[in-house]
Amino acid sequence: MKFKLSILSIGLALTVFSPLSQTADLEKIQLPDMGDSSGTLISPAQELELGGAFFRQLHSQVQINEDVEIQQYIQEVGRRLVLNSDAPTNPFYFFVVLDDNINAFAGPGGYIGINSGLILMTEAESELTSVMAHEVAHVTQRHLYRAFEAASKLSIPTAAATLAAILIGIKNPAAGQAALIAVQAASVQKQIDFTRDNEQEADRIGMQTLVAANYDPRSMPTFFERLQQSSRFYGQAAPEFLRTHPVTESRISDTRSRADQYPYKQYPDSLTYLLARTKLKALTSNDNPATLHYFQATQAQGTQEQRMVARYGEALMYLKTQKLPAAEKILADLVSRYPDQAFYVSALARCHLEGKQFDKALKIYQQAIKHFPTNSALKFEYVNSLLKAGQPKVAQQALESLAGNVQEHTLYLELLAQSYADLKQMAESHRYLAEYYYAVGQTKTAILQIKLAQKEKSLNSYLGAILEERLHFFLEEEKQRRENE
Ligand SMILES: [Zn+2]
Repeated sequence: MKFKLSILSIGLALTVFSPLSQTADLEKIQLPDMGDSSGTLISPAQELELGGAFFRQLHSQVQINEDVEIQQYIQEVGRRLVLNSDAPTNPFYFFVVLDDNINAFAGPGGYIGINSGLILMTEAESELTSVMAHEVAHVTQRHLYRAFEAASKLSIPTAAATLAAILIGIKNPAAGQAALIAVQAASVQKQIDFTRDNEQEADRIGMQTLVAANYDPRSMPTFFERLQQSSRFYGQAAPEFLRTHPVTESRISDTRSRADQYPYKQYPDSLTYLLARTKLKALTSNDNPATLHYFQATQAQGTQEQRMVARYGEALMYLKTQKLPAAEKILADLVSRYPDQAFYVSALARCHLEGKQFDKALKIYQQAIKHFPTNSALKFEYVNSLLKAGQPKVAQQALESLAGNVQEHTLYLELLAQSYADLKQMAESHRYLAEYYYAVGQTKTAILQIKLAQKEKSLNSYLGAILEERLHFFLEEEKQRRENE
């Protein structure tokens, strides 16, 4: 069994992207009317189900970030925007896609993806949140409603695959689905390209949300300008984001004049933004010497805080390239100066872990978890360390203490499966591996894992019943998928 647990060794699986057509002309998308006689309206529950399937499907097409610190950050700022939007109770889930292409997209059920390429292009936190607020507005204004409705006429797995292919601009969906998606995509595609009206509305509503959440409204036109300039610079390879959300001169001047109506003030970046962006840069870099040099060079610039973050970046590059003493030296210094910064504390512990100094690493995590009780990233890393240190039973207890909402994280399922494997409880291990594969859109492999679990001698009747039920559920979904092929 192979687990992807080394948090800093991510190889980018970039996919080839295709341009999206800009042919749609849907100026008059209406809010859903419950009295509609067509009987094809997608219900909120159906949309959520479609959203879950869409998110699972995405995993097999792009690399979704598994770093919990980065995930925690993006979900936090996303929550802050939603709470200040016109639909604060809507379900939303924000996540990062590890992809250099500059893109952000909103799927069904409030699933909003932001590519690492876009995050790394931002020069201020408000630039990032302005794009996120724009996407939130597309969701709350239900601009994609028609697309979801068109897709919902397909079976859920097929609808999810079709939406995923379109939203992220994938050229090569799984072989069996290719022909189908080509046909279906055309009808859904027409409903998915945003019209000029949609874009203006998303800008307008998005800016209200941005201001209410105390981010800089001027960052919206600033970032749009940078996007437009980059597209001029790159020519053919214009950012994916611009294909689904065309930025025109008039959009920039409209948002500029709207932003100017707000009084000018300073909006300092949060330290967490700087740290999360730095970690993402280190994580996704495919030119380690150049990235190391960048962090070294930027230590002479900016505020004291920014210089410290650049040192953190330098340490992460040492950690990534296994120069552990150099990493430890910087991180120990950062922790002694800023004991309240969880990013520094966890990086120091990770440094000990990489050096197989398990006791040191575990001690730091134990203290840190007491110090930052709501930080689930630390708990995940603690569990990972316990497994590496050969303490699967304690690891399981720590996993159980995690809050219910993070148990949906795919890393949770991976760690749980690993802990059972280490305890030689193979039926349970296969069971959670099945759930992991299902969560990342590989239902066939999930079925295989259930069958492996069923062959285990240690199987009790309780687990046997669960396995039987899950097998039925997975098989049914595969059947639906095949019927559409
Ligand atoms: Zn847009």
